[in-house]
Amino acid sequence: MDRRVYLAECRDYSAASVKEAVGQVLDGFGGTGGIFRDLTHKKVFIKVNLLSAVPPERAVTTHPAVVEALAQILIDAGAEVTIGDSGTTSAGEQALRRLYRVTGMEEVAQRTGAQLALSVSPRRAEYPAGKVCRSFNIISPVLDADFVISAAKLKTHGLAYYTGAVKNLFGCIPGLEKAGTHASHPDKRRFNRLLCDLCGLVATAFSIVDGVVGMEGAGPLNGNPKEVGVIGGAVNPYALDLAMCECVSFSPRSIPVLSFAADDRLIPRSAQELDLLGGCETSRFKTEFVPATGGKSVGLAALALGKLAPRRLREAIRERRSPWPLFGDGCVGCGHCAEICPRRTISLSGGKAHPDYTACIRCYCCQEICPAGAITLVRRRPGENV
Ligand code: SF4
Ligand code: SF4
Repeated sequence: MDRRVYLAECRDYSAASVKEAVGQVLDGFGGTGGIFRDLTHKKVFIKVNLLSAVPPERAVTTHPAVVEALAQILIDAGAEVTIGDSGTTSAGEQALRRLYRVTGMEEVAQRTGAQLALSVSPRRAEYPAGKVCRSFNIISPVLDADFVISAAKLKTHGLAYYTGAVKNLFGCIPGLEKAGTHASHPDKRRFNRLLCDLCGLVATAFSIVDGVVGMEGAGPLNGNPKEVGVIGGAVNPYALDLAMCECVSFSPRSIPVLSFAADDRLIPRSAQELDLLGGCETSRFKTEFVPATGGKSVGLAALALGKLAPRRLREAIRERRSPWPLFGDGCVGCGHCAEICPRRTISLSGGKAHPDYTACIRCYCCQEICPAGAITLVRRRPGENV
């Protein structure tokens, strides 16, 4: 079990502040030599979180200053760096170019000499050790790399509750295939287990989470930016997420992937048992994040019951505790939610989206993608009598 995490204080996105913080994080692990040994001519893929083509100040995407500092250090050490994500729709090269331009990655590539992943065609990759999924379609830049780095954004998330180093890797599954993965793993517990399998397959060499400004509330797209003032790094992505959750006051017991990782003895049960390098404590960044669900997330009891209970009882627990997507008046009828919904349960009429709740699996892909922020997560099924 690798318990080491480095948390570097960084209160703004000026190039100098970020460069210093990212340098501290890597130096905490012995620099690039300590993490990767020799990077000369090695292909490194930086998997950034580019959920949507929105500017960096929205706090949706990994900030370009963080990616630039990281890419420059790797390139200076001799690596051939590619930066990329797979997009959330059936993105072709044109859509990816726009994504990279709006999120600031194009400029990062121009300034550093890094490549941008413009072809994200997938290949099948086997993971025999998987607990719920033993093979995945993975974008080729991930499979072609000698080393993969997860460069994530600290945010809330409807289905995973928190998105950081581990959840960021879901973007290694191409475009709309993500929706298919939701459809084949509609059970919340199985889906979060799948994230652990995917994390095992990708086997990142290092992870960084951009928490200078994170996102609370209706994440991962429509929440509110909130300063945390930290850039974290670790070899073990679960350890890093455990530390970041402690910073934003999320109990690790309420984060399914962290609960599974603790069961598998990949991390300790509590952030107090982490090995925080450089003497930087989580208390320095202590913040309270409002979760995406707007209320309490799934707790230990529910998770434990989920593990032990027979399938029918698990479904009943899920039925009771999972929030519902409420489609509000802000809908502009763009149809993105209907395109991505794995159950094809959303229809458009009168310029508005209308979900069929009887078929909804509460994957929250619609809430995650809605550009108008028209979908909120509510405890009670919309239309249900109180
Ligand atoms: S994505 Fe949002 S704005 Fe677009 S149709 Fe769906 S609910 Fe309406
Ligand atoms: S309506 Fe939204 S939450 Fe329900 S299945 Fe479709 S995308 Fe998932």
